Amino acid sequence: MSQTARRNSTAEWQAQDLAHHLHPFTDQHALPSQGVRVIARAEGTHLYDSDGRRLLDAFAGLWCVNLGYGRKELAKVAYDQMIELPYYNTFFKTTTPPAAELSKILSDMTPKGLNRVFYGLSGSDANDTIARMARHYWNLMGKKTKKTIIGRHNGYHGSTMVAASMGGMSYMHAIADLPLPGFTHIQQPYWYGEGGDLTPAEFGRKAAKALEDKILELGPENCAAFVGEPIQGAGGVIIPPDTYWPEIQRICKQYDLLVIADEVICGFGRTGYWFASEYFKIEPDFMTLAKGLTSGYLPLSAVMVGKRVADVIAGDKGGEFNHGYTYSGHPVSCAVAMENIRLMRDEGLVTRVHNETGPYLAKRLNELKDHPLVGEVRSLGFIGAIELVKDKAKRKFFNPIGEVGTICRDHCFANGLVMRATRDTMLLSPPLIWTTADIDEFMELARKSLDQTLADVK
Ligand code: PLP
Repeated sequence: MSQTARRNSTAEWQAQDLAHHLHPFTDQHALPSQGVRVIARAEGTHLYDSDGRRLLDAFAGLWCVNLGYGRKELAKVAYDQMIELPYYNTFFKTTTPPAAELSKILSDMTPKGLNRVFYGLSGSDANDTIARMARHYWNLMGKKTKKTIIGRHNGYHGSTMVAASMGGMSYMHAIADLPLPGFTHIQQPYWYGEGGDLTPAEFGRKAAKALEDKILELGPENCAAFVGEPIQGAGGVIIPPDTYWPEIQRICKQYDLLVIADEVICGFGRTGYWFASEYFKIEPDFMTLAKGLTSGYLPLSAVMVGKRVADVIAGDKGGEFNHGYTYSGHPVSCAVAMENIRLMRDEGLVTRVHNETGPYLAKRLNELKDHPLVGEVRSLGFIGAIELVKDKAKRKFFNPIGEVGTICRDHCFANGLVMRATRDTMLLSPPLIWTTADIDEFMELARKSLDQTLADVK
């Protein structure tokens, strides 16, 4: 069917949707009164809703459209691959050229030692795979009590029962009685919110010490792994103090825990490094990749598996690994991922975010520090946050938490800017193609929205 033949009116789409579509992360009961918005198309750095309204996307879809919208090269590769081989599985000793080639590329570009890849379709299923692989590894090692995975309060690792258990968000746990047994959580390294009188460096060490305390409480012989996002994304873009990850790394080594770096958001250039593990000097045994791997054009996730684990599960003791998804290593998704990586490399996007546009964004965000609502701004490369607070001097948050963020997000949208709010923190994760002109447009719209929010809450 052609685009024009398919064209309904906004009201028709909304009616169809309200009657039949159950949305993720949406209050379905409240939706009829709130209204559902229809995003109909996109180009470059802008979205267009079904009434033709233009919106600057400061969130790269959902932290994923790193190359921006409308990249014909990606569509062409997908088309060609669909004609050549639209699908074949990777079970039972089979591969496809795109799955094999991408595995080599990912092994070469990720940090040293991560040389094996297991494919899935989402960050959630990739984290499920890791939880299963970690247990399988310790069973094969004859350490059958090493089962518990330790995450952080307010960490996000996905929505399946296991991934939501790895994560530490109370509103995720509230649905369906989570976490499952075998998952527990420690303090997050959120200096601005929880650091009190400590310096960031002191607080980073304290937050890491919580891991050691938890391991000693449970017994190291019962602990399988530690999981963390290098920078917590959905939790509010929480950038840990520099002292945090080295201590985590040391503690995991001392008590023999595997390290899982969930780079679903941070990977593929978001921080100005290909992977945030490079910046924080994390040496992961597993790395979770998704989102920016294909710039969101097709679903694909990849679990990068380190030598220590790969040697055992693919070694003589390993046996059959009875785990996989119909679409593991989907050839069209893998072909698109390769083209996505090629374009990012050819266009020097990661270097540009690191050297030029990331620092420019940080400089411009810092200008917001003079705003009465803004308690802190923070960013690394193209991931950032603007914390809105009631009292800047006392670092005092609004009560109830979350209302002001929602007001600001709605003003942003009305002004033609898409930002996300977590609690009262405005989150920023633009496509990596943003130029300084896009950043200037963003700043103008963000400041206007902040002023309107201030007028509402004064
Ligand atoms: N891990 C992190 C750090 C994420 O931010 C997300 C999604 O936002 C996930 C995992 C889950 O990915 P997906 O939504 O593709 O299942």
